[in-house]
Amino acid sequence: MTEPFVTLAAVSAAAAIVALALVALRLRRARREFDEEVAAWKLRLRLDLQQARKERDLLLDALDEAFVLVDRNGGILFANRAAQAMFPGRTIVGRSVPDVFLDQKVAQPIIECIDSGDPSTTRVVLPRQGSSPVGGAWIVDAARISETPDDAPEFRVVLRDVTSEHHAEQIRKDFVANASHELRTPLAIINGYLENLLDDGLVSDPELTRRFLKVMRKHTERIARIVEDMLVISRLESGEAAALKLKPFKIRSCISDVLERLESMIQAQKARVRVEMPDEDLTIDGDRFYWTQVLFNLVENALKQNPREGLGVTVGCVRKEGSGDIEIWVSDDGIGIPSADLAHIFRRFYRVEKHHNQDEIKGTGLGLSIVKRAVEAHNGTIDVHSTPGEDTRFTILLPSGAEEQTRLDAEERTALAPTETG
Ligand code: ATP
Ligand code: MG
Repeated sequence: MTEPFVTLAAVSAAAAIVALALVALRLRRARREFDEEVAAWKLRLRLDLQQARKERDLLLDALDEAFVLVDRNGGILFANRAAQAMFPGRTIVGRSVPDVFLDQKVAQPIIECIDSGDPSTTRVVLPRQGSSPVGGAWIVDAARISETPDDAPEFRVVLRDVTSEHHAEQIRKDFVANASHELRTPLAIINGYLENLLDDGLVSDPELTRRFLKVMRKHTERIARIVEDMLVISRLESGEAAALKLKPFKIRSCISDVLERLESMIQAQKARVRVEMPDEDLTIDGDRFYWTQVLFNLVENALKQNPREGLGVTVGCVRKEGSGDIEIWVSDDGIGIPSADLAHIFRRFYRVEKHHNQDEIKGTGLGLSIVKRAVEAHNGTIDVHSTPGEDTRFTILLPSGAEEQTRLDAEERTALAPTETG
């Protein structure tokens, strides 16, 4: 009686075991499929993340501005190409902000932004010196990236190079300051004489009045010259190439004009002026007005700085064989320019101190800066060397192709200029 019952129980147990084994098998398969799916997802996510990072880097590398990502401890997480280029040969990712930006003026606003969480925009001017590769003027723009988690915030720092704007601004400030100073002096002198004449009743003395008026005229002429020179400079600076009226002309005729205008001075000083031009027909494509100003100022300077008799002055021009560059030079054997002054000689209002005494009005110190501007507007360069008493030489180099380039610049600027309507 018990035997069939035992058999049935055994069969049921076996069936249960088989069923369990089947379930376990299915579960294992499901688990394997799940694991495989998770691994595939992870891989896809990793690839997506890699792709997103690559796109982000490409985008940020395309920026001209330096972009840096910083963590809450000031550690640099990412630097785009422009940021990396600021530190050639050094890796900046993984290092700290104060360690990379040695100048506190840059590091400080970034650290402050990290500490406070507030965005900051700071303009800093760095001296280009010593081991620091970074110099010039910069805008440091730091802010927290709002999407990052509160317990691990990240900060973006953008460094914008504003050196050339800063430079231009500085030059403008200097120019205004210098011009005001230069104009104030003759005006004060004129005012002084006027007060003497009117308030002190000296006007009744015709002899004295005449003398005062003569001095006043000298100073008004100086003011007029400063204003005229400033106008020439501003014309040259407002779109230099467009300001030029380009036309081929013979450089020899330009030299002759200059020497003619300076004839009385040359005669009075018994100066020996020589023109060295192997090819008298040499032609320049440029603005004759400015080239005349250039040569006039250079020859006038030589004569003016050396009022002694028998000064030797040479004006030369040659087209170099091979390169085709044009070289123009003006040299004299006068007192020369001290080496300490040479680096500053083309600056506006700069005059060699020891050449000038207070009473003497020889010039405004604007001549050479006009010369430089005019030569550069023609895509040329000017250089000076001086051995006092022997040879003081201003050399202008007009590379072959400079004339063509000037013409293209002028055309381009004219095309870009807004057309007048109405
Ligand atoms: P401006 O040309 O505006 O009338 P300037 O002649 O004094 O005035 P620049 O032509 O700019 O001004 O020259 C600047 C200074 O350079 C001169 O004042 C002079 O001290 C010096 N200098 C220029 N050329 C010579 C030269 N050939 N020999 C000696 N010193 C020179
Ligand atoms: Mg001069």
